[in-house]
Formats: sequence, C-alpha cells, structure tokens
Amino acid sequence: MEIKHFHRATSLEDAHKTLLQDPSNIVLGGGLWVKKTTTNANTLIDLSGLKLDQIKDTHDVLEIGAMVSLRDFETHPAVKSLNGGFLSSATSQIMGVAFRRLATVGGTVAGRFAFSDLLTSLLTLPVTLVFFPKKEMSLEQYLSAKGKTTDILTSIIIKKEPGIGYFKKVSNTVLDFAILNVAVTHFKEKYVIAVGARPAGAVLALKAMEYLNGQKNPTLAEFEKAAELASEAIGFLTTSTASESYRKTLARTYVRRGLEEVAHHEG
Ligand SMILES: Cc1cc2nc3c(=O)[nH]c(=O)nc-3n(C[C@H](O)[C@H](O)[C@H](O)COP(=O)(O)OP(=O)(O)OC[C@H]3O[C@@H](n4cnc5c(N)ncnc54)[C@H](O)[C@@H]3O)c2cc1C
Repeated sequence: MEIKHFHRATSLEDAHKTLLQDPSNIVLGGGLWVKKTTTNANTLIDLSGLKLDQIKDTHDVLEIGAMVSLRDFETHPAVKSLNGGFLSSATSQIMGVAFRRLATVGGTVAGRFAFSDLLTSLLTLPVTLVFFPKKEMSLEQYLSAKGKTTDILTSIIIKKEPGIGYFKKVSNTVLDFAILNVAVTHFKEKYVIAVGARPAGAVLALKAMEYLNGQKNPTLAEFEKAAELASEAIGFLTTSTASESYRKTLARTYVRRGLEEVAHHEG
C-alpha cells in the first residue's frame, strides 16, 4: 500500500474537510480492512484523537463511539448483559483478541461488509447511526443505501429493549468468514430475524417476521413455517465455500433453532 500523507484530525470538521479534499483520501478506523484492500491513498485520516473511543451506558441507550475497538465493545459489561449478550458473543467470533483490539465498531459499520458477524446481529436491534455533518439514519437504511458516503460515522446508538438475542455464525474454521450468519431477537412478544453472509449482506427476513408476529404464542410448527419462509424469500448464492442450496438449508435450520431458543425468554 502506498500512502502519500498521514493526517491526525484535530476535530470532526478538520477530518471531514480533509476527506472532501481528494477522492483518494481515506478515513481510518483500525485500518485493518483498509490495509488489506487499498493499494494507493493520498491521505489517511486518523480519528484517534477525537475521543470517539467511548461507550456511554444510559438508562435507555448504549452509545458506542466509532473508534471503540471490537474488543472493548465485546467485553463491556453493558454489552455483555444486553439481550443475553448475543452482540458480545457475535463479536467474540471475529478473528483473535489481538485483531479485535485494533478493529473498530465504526470501521465495521461504515464498511457495510456482507460477511460481517456484528452487522447481522445489530440489524435485529433498534440501531441509529450518527454521522458528521449532522445526519442520523437507521442501520437498516444505511445497509440498503447504495454508493460511497463522504460523511464520518461518529457513533452508533443501540436502544435498550428488554428481550433476548441469538446469533449463529456458520464457517469452515473459527478464523474463516461466515458461510452464513443468522441472528434472532425476541422483544415484547415480537420476533426479528436477520440473515447475513448469503454471501450478500445482512437483511431482515420480513415475510417470516410478518407471518410469525401475526401468530399469538407461536407453536413449534409455526417456527418451522417462519424458518421456511425466511429461507425461501431471502436470496442466496453459490460461492467456492458453499452452494446456494446449502446456504438455504442452513438458513432454515438456524432460523428455526434461533426462534426456539429465544421463544421462552422475555428478560
Ligand atoms: C483479515 C480480516 C479478517 C476478517 N474477518 C472477519 C470475520 O470473520 N468476521 C467479521 O465480522 N469481520 C471480519 N473482518 C472485518 C473486521 O471485523 C472489521 O470490520 C474491519 O477490519 C473494519 O474495521 P477497521 O476498524 O479495521 O476499519 P478500517 O479498515 O479502518 O475501515 C473500513 C472502512 O470503513 C471506513 N471508515 C472507518 N471508520 C470510519 C468512520 N468513522 N466514518 C466513516 N468511514 C469510516 C474506512 O474508510 C474504510 O472504508 C475481517 C477483516 C480482516 C482484515
């Protein structure tokens, strides 16, 4: 990788102004993905002096600064206790501890990685992204938006809902990218289902959710039907690591297991 300049931003205004100066200027999170995928950059913009590495835990929300490392996120007591700790568990399955000390929550969200374990699980929660200059949008909106953004992600806000979450990563080895990711949450008798690494990015299984949330106290047969709807309605593709039909079978199996697992928790 060839870099001409390294700029330590002194403020968000400074970072944003620098980003707009040249299309080959790049904002850095932990820099792990940038290093792997970028050949040339004019200026790398470092956000590490902007105090974006804080986690704020209030009564209603968790506010995660963009520069919080995956490891700090994973091990924070409020993240570990939120919805049975499924976000913490999903994050703990990304590479090793040394890697997670460098990779950031902001780089993960901004990167919109289709294989992302954390994005699949976050998609099942009420998550708002906060950008500079002033802009907010839901994670779902951001993941479905096209094109590169020139805004800087400053934090993600997770609304606390009492309930439980489930996350399953299917991969060939612990260090591989997922062949499929499934996350399920259960709040106030409503179920949310997300499927990622299809290999396309994480999406909500809306048809399955609509069906299931129309049932009062769903039975095992209705969970099975919802899992079938999820696997039928969401698109899967064949890659060198897994076929379309294998991914479909995995989705059906793990959506059903996820639903059964979260069904009896409300706390
Ligand atoms: C070898 C390798 C293996 C991996 N394996 C997995 C895996 O198994 N599962 C998984 O879920 N993830 C995996 N990842 C992804 C990883 O977890 C991180 O999501 C990824 O490295 C990005 O985080 P980062 O902090 O390194 O971001 P960077 O590489 O610094 O940035 C990523 C992108 O986001 C932009 N960006 C960063 N911060 C901001 C910001 N605040 N505002 C706007 N744009 C921003 C950058 O310009 C860049 O385009 C892997 C990554 C690598 C390199």
